[in-house]
Amino acid sequence: MSAESKKAHNFIESLIGDAIAEGRHSGQVVTRFPPEPNGYLHIGHAKSICLNFGIAETFDGVCTLRFDDTNPEKESQEYIDAIKQDVHWLGYEWAGEVRYASDYFDAIYDFAVELIEKGKAYVCALTADQMAEYRGTLKEPGQNSPYRDRPVEENLQMFRDMRDGKYQNGELVLRAKIDMASPNINLRDPILYRIRYADHHQTGDKWCIYPMYDFTHPISDAMEGITHSLCTLEFEDHRPLYDWVLENITAPCQPRQIEFARLNLNYTITSKRKLRRLVDEGFVDGWNDPRMPTISGMRRRGYTPESLRTFCDMIGVNKAGGTVDMGMLEFAIREDLNIRAPRAMCVMRPLKVTLTNYPENQTETLVLPVHPQNPDMGEREVIWSQTLFIDREDFSEEPPRKWKRLAPDQAVRLRGGYVMTCREVIRDQNGEVVELKCEYDANTLGVNPEGYKPNGVVHWVSATDSVETDINQYDRLFNQESPDGDKETDFVDSINPDSLVVLHGARVEKSLANPRTDLPYQFEREGYFFCDQELTAKAGRPVFNRTVTLRDSWGKGK
Ligand code: ATP
Ligand code: MG
Repeated sequence: MSAESKKAHNFIESLIGDAIAEGRHSGQVVTRFPPEPNGYLHIGHAKSICLNFGIAETFDGVCTLRFDDTNPEKESQEYIDAIKQDVHWLGYEWAGEVRYASDYFDAIYDFAVELIEKGKAYVCALTADQMAEYRGTLKEPGQNSPYRDRPVEENLQMFRDMRDGKYQNGELVLRAKIDMASPNINLRDPILYRIRYADHHQTGDKWCIYPMYDFTHPISDAMEGITHSLCTLEFEDHRPLYDWVLENITAPCQPRQIEFARLNLNYTITSKRKLRRLVDEGFVDGWNDPRMPTISGMRRRGYTPESLRTFCDMIGVNKAGGTVDMGMLEFAIREDLNIRAPRAMCVMRPLKVTLTNYPENQTETLVLPVHPQNPDMGEREVIWSQTLFIDREDFSEEPPRKWKRLAPDQAVRLRGGYVMTCREVIRDQNGEVVELKCEYDANTLGVNPEGYKPNGVVHWVSATDSVETDINQYDRLFNQESPDGDKETDFVDSINPDSLVVLHGARVEKSLANPRTDLPYQFEREGYFFCDQELTAKAGRPVFNRTVTLRDSWGKGK
């Protein structure tokens, strides 16, 4: 991109664009997405993915996918596989093979040795508690460790011995020798390596010492030729350490760290640790529960990659932070599905309707558009027959004023079909309405009736040519705007008890016996619904997840 030819999408693109235009940056732009494989990706990660891959695209550069795997106890292959799938699904292709920080463990070890040789790192035997004491506070400088001036040769020997398993977990650490009086606590001789006897998903039992994130990250970036290392704001105070590491080793290149605000979304949480708790303690049905703000959960719910990318575009990238309204995410998916989702009819709470003047064994095929505004999407067939179902909520014996649906002796149009008038209400012993006897008007297919006006349009299905289905009506997972905003209360206390309501025995058009699995449907007048393949296979009949309602009805009592 030349700085003049295109408008930058965000401040980071402007920075890079300016640097290129002014000759301060030359060569390919290389970014990376560096997840830690300790959980599934969530909507916050989508922001980072869109940013990193987006910048690579804008500048004809590349973006790598690198697992930042320095905490073997918390990581697993399951997470690695899920993360790769999610990045692909969002529509991005990483450059070359997947990378792992653990690919660089040998090199990182060698750079640690280089620091020791230069007198810039030492092996320290302070306990964790002592180290905290020596660290000082924001107001007071720290004190030098008594091990700080250990001779280079001794440090080299001890570091080798750490690697060779001659010490216990936690017995020693390797620290950078920077400045215990620095106002930036991250520079007060930070730990570079610690001892951990743990099997690693990539390197097995090769290592019993693991490098810390702050040491691993700049080196991994440099090894991959990353030019711009984008991270969230909490790393701003770590930038001097990032730069220190690269300045003090013979780094293959000098990437530049740039920070941006993380995404917070109201009515949900974006912390893998907390999401894992929801999974582990059974509050949700796994990481891909459709109520989870994970990419896999949203995919299962019916969110499209396009809608997530649009959302990330809408929220932008800045340093200010703040919380984004869940309504924006819902807006993005509604906009996308309104244009692309095929239409269908689903009767959620079926009420039987018998057309008294329609012959019992007769049927008629009606042809409806798949999408009313897009003829290219083709047509679908629905069957008209003597027995139909409408939704219980579309009938009222004592309708309120301005009732736009069916009532005794009133007429409605059945969407795409005829107009009918309710003549009789049948009840069971308990007085519950179980059937309506109606008369249809044979002269009203596609034309208005003569001499009277129907009360509205309702959706319907034929009793014989429809399929039974279960509907998962999902709502927001939390009923508090900021579930983890209050330190006094546990965030699980604000889980919305109505976040999942299952409706059994709903009925869909027969064409949905084998539903599409690539896109949700718009069930007319109800919302957008996506076939849940896992649950459908289990139930032996289609199961649909509600992606989102047609309109924003949160908190309005629907
Ligand atoms: P979590 O707290 O959920 O574990 P994390 O930052 O530890 O998040 P990583 O796997 O280390 O998760 O993150 C990979 C990348 O995604 C990092 O560059 C990180 O900055 C970015 N990222 C994580 N969460 C968000 C968020 N909410 N908004 C924007 N970017 C994020
Ligand atoms: Mg992390």
